Amino acid sequence: MLDLDHPEIQFALNVTRRASLLVRQVQAELVTPALTKDDRSPVTVADYAAQALVGRLLAQSFPQDWLVAEEDSSALRTPEGRQALQQVTQFVRRNLPDATPEMVCAWIDHRRTDAAPRFWTLDPIDGTKGFLRGDQYAIVLALVVDGHVQIGVLGCPNLTRAKQPDLNGPGSLVIAVREAGAWTTSLASPGDFQQLQVSTQADPAQARLLRSFESGHTNVSQIDTFAQALGIQTEPVLMDSQAKYAVLAAGKGDLMLRLISASQPNYREKIWDQAAGSLVLEEAGGQITDLDGKPLDFTTGRSLRENRGILASNRLLHAAALSALRQIGA
Ligand code: AMP
Ligand code: MG
Repeated sequence: MLDLDHPEIQFALNVTRRASLLVRQVQAELVTPALTKDDRSPVTVADYAAQALVGRLLAQSFPQDWLVAEEDSSALRTPEGRQALQQVTQFVRRNLPDATPEMVCAWIDHRRTDAAPRFWTLDPIDGTKGFLRGDQYAIVLALVVDGHVQIGVLGCPNLTRAKQPDLNGPGSLVIAVREAGAWTTSLASPGDFQQLQVSTQADPAQARLLRSFESGHTNVSQIDTFAQALGIQTEPVLMDSQAKYAVLAAGKGDLMLRLISASQPNYREKIWDQAAGSLVLEEAGGQITDLDGKPLDFTTGRSLRENRGILASNRLLHAAALSALRQIGA
């Protein structure tokens, strides 16, 4: 069962929820139709603001813990970054009214590291393209101890009950705790937690396949070949961010692939893109490995250097999917 009085669990839920609501505010206010296609400034503002909030709350709750996160404050401290820093500070002040630009920079850099025996890893906006497009994105936090993910939390503002895309709904907060299951509650008004359970689909040909929306993050034609090898007739569902893991954990999908994009053959998955989502899936009864069937190794720093791509499943379909991957040479 989920122990809501446990300090780390309480912290992870509270912080991810507050950061998610902050990011959602930036989305609502700065992602406007007037935004030009290449303008990523809302991502910049939300990324830094959420990381500052998490850094500050971590300093209060677990001052000795390390944080592995994507951003640092160096760009904000340059003359070109001044305007962004002001905007970031304004959003942070809605949560922490005394924040100054200098404090915001310090919180962003709080206990930042690349590796430690015990650390939290944060993706302030996973699925930045989805955030800008108005699709799925997630605010993601995980606690990793000695290479094992112990807690993983996903804030999914545009997903209802961890499975239903819903752009103006309550959103979902999803938490997994090692050996205590995967659970979801409303992001807007948390209350009862429902336990998540993967699907019971055992027929590969019937599998509902999920993949990245962005074709550059995977290999689309190889996914088609994979689907043919398993006899899957339906098109894959395209979705940004670790929201895909929530959907798999909730039994609304059966398989997810991150194949290697042809343009970046040496790409290695980032730890913050997989840590929380992998535990959510496993605690819901699913299975996750790399494309060679190897377990994910979270001891190698910011990237999963020892792993190649990702295969995630409801467990029942894992062996068939691995053998299809071998068959097509993925
Ligand atoms: P998704 O929304 O599932 O496409 O995943 C988003 C994440 O993909 C981002 O947070 C990036 O860290 C990651 N990413 C960026 N480039 C690549 C790539 N070439 N292959 C796989 N993932 C990537
Ligand atoms: Mg990400």
